[in-house]
Amino acid sequence: MEYILETKGLTKVYGNKEAAKDVDLHIREGQIYGLIGRNGAGKTTIMRMISGLSIPTSGSYSLFGKTGYAMGKMLKNVGVLIEYPGLYPRLSAYENLKIKCIGMGIRPRGYVEELLKVIGLENTDMKKPAGSYSLGMRQRLGIGLALVGDPKILILDEPINGLDPQGIAEIRQTLLKLRDEKGITIMISSHILDELAKVADCFGIINEGRMLDEFSAEELHRRCGQYVMIRTDNHDAALKTLKGLGIEEIGAEADGTLRIAGHLDDTPRMSKAIVEAGIGLQEIRLQSLSLEDYYLGVTAGGGHNG
Ligand code: ATP
Repeated sequence: MEYILETKGLTKVYGNKEAAKDVDLHIREGQIYGLIGRNGAGKTTIMRMISGLSIPTSGSYSLFGKTGYAMGKMLKNVGVLIEYPGLYPRLSAYENLKIKCIGMGIRPRGYVEELLKVIGLENTDMKKPAGSYSLGMRQRLGIGLALVGDPKILILDEPINGLDPQGIAEIRQTLLKLRDEKGITIMISSHILDELAKVADCFGIINEGRMLDEFSAEELHRRCGQYVMIRTDNHDAALKTLKGLGIEEIGAEADGTLRIAGHLDDTPRMSKAIVEAGIGLQEIRLQSLSLEDYYLGVTAGGGHNG
């Protein structure tokens, strides 16, 4: 089994709206997979289908390498937190978890206490009602509820949405602990690539229901790595001159500024050639792309339909 979770051509149509269209995504065991997309991009739609909460219009998916009926039986290994956690606001974290355990027939002694530790709520006042928790604590309790039954895959829809930096950091620690100590595979969605980049090993970018790209964390950092930025008074001539130096990977921004991947040590040779060609060199420097810039670049042109 190469992937613990894989979709092929997954599509969901509501009326005449294609909320998800031909989505192929690939998640390996033990990974944290970040699904990134604007509001309304289709993240929830995809997660609901994978969790068995909604039926795809077309396409298929496999869990643990199984499809069809065998896959259906695997859904019990999937823990889900989609949209807001269904909490009993007057009950404490302990009581909320206990009720879910009873509902699922899970009775081992100390099970709830252990879950509270995993989600970092073990020191919370046992009588405090969940309705009075901070958003971050509620989200962690939501993750705890999704963990009842020891799922091997956890699907979390926007668990960091609306959290302050402290709350985000706590969720991040919880997720890393679940991956590293319990070996749980996690799929998490967000519209903030910067935040996902701190936890995810792999990413899928969704825009207008379509998967635009999938890549690893290393690949993301490589893509957002340094490049040479050159601004001149004659971009066409500069481009020709650089190609004459054997530099092929040259991109141009809307204002004509040139971007060169790699060749970071070649800037003296580039500036010399440009000046010798009689071109006015206005700026040459090393630049790196922020994650958000990268994301905006990839999704450029996609409308905001949320
Ligand atoms: P958000 O973070 O805002 O939830 P999302 O990326 O999760 O965004 P979805 O909730 O999957 O996006 O929605 C994708 C598109 O499908 C949206 O345009 C939405 O309006 C539409 N959509 C979602 N569910 C339904 C439904 N039950 N009926 C009709 N349209 C729907």
